[in-house]
Amino acid sequence: MISVFGSVNMDLVAYVEAAPGLGETVTGRAFRTVPGGKGANQAIAAARAGAEVAFLGAVGDDAFGPELRRTLAGAGVDVSGLRTVPGPSGIAQIVVDDQGGNSIIVVPGANGAVSAPSEAELEVIARSDVLLLQLELPIGAVTAAARAARAAGTTVILTPAPVQPLPDELLEAVDVLVANEHEAAAITGRADHEEAVRELRTRVDWVIITLGSRGALSAGPGTAPALRVQAPKVRAVDTTAAGDTFVGALAAALVERQLPDRAVRFAGAAAALSVQREGASTSMPARAEIDRSLA
Ligand code: ADP
Repeated sequence: MISVFGSVNMDLVAYVEAAPGLGETVTGRAFRTVPGGKGANQAIAAARAGAEVAFLGAVGDDAFGPELRRTLAGAGVDVSGLRTVPGPSGIAQIVVDDQGGNSIIVVPGANGAVSAPSEAELEVIARSDVLLLQLELPIGAVTAAARAARAAGTTVILTPAPVQPLPDELLEAVDVLVANEHEAAAITGRADHEEAVRELRTRVDWVIITLGSRGALSAGPGTAPALRVQAPKVRAVDTTAAGDTFVGALAAALVERQLPDRAVRFAGAAAALSVQREGASTSMPARAEIDRSLA
């Protein structure tokens, strides 16, 4: 079983010709609300990849709360541990212009209220095979969850986004770090991927740097130097949440005890399927599709 201790947001997306400047008002072309948040996206990706998944985190007591809960449940994710807290749910206000450029404001809302894992959450984490963490909850809460997982023998996978300094107490409890190339460069200060992997491996056992259409670099116990896993050649239409799909599928593969190389290939296959479709959670492939693309 996989538990995800992470964020869930409602993305409020406005499409405009050109984004308004300060003090300016523009008329938009369209508006959509799309459930998101890295935690929720990874949970849905893992469930679609065939895993049993429990989501731990918080929504607000506003109108978005029940909708976010329904979205996760509808994807087959166990939401019995999802808290409802007073105040607004987390939101991301996104403006997309005609050039495809975007600007985003994230207001953590209920996610920011998760200051520590509760006793009940710690119990679910201890029962899990894998715990998925990102950095959209307060870092103290993420660190406490990681350490509890480590003590219980639960495998911890961390996505270090949004990028911020990573305390040793957190990294000491992480088994697998999955960063995209921008995150890896920001954390290590090294643009060279091989060097970034080497440096991160002094802090974490298994490091994966995802490289978009160029696949991923993976270095873990027994794989030095880093192994380059090519991405399948596909026509990408929307790469939103490719990384979250990769991580969710990776976790599902590890629960099944797939060997590391195979698990990375499985994750890459899932992510390559997701980029061929629009949207975040709506683009994540079902298990049968992933198996077919690997056959
Ligand atoms: P993020 O979504 O966090 O920015 P990446 O862009 O590195 O992360 O993508 C994560 C993974 O998704 C890659 O390692 C790769 O397996 C897959 N992927 C992303 N873009 C493509 C693409 N154009 N073609 C095939 N696979 C892709």
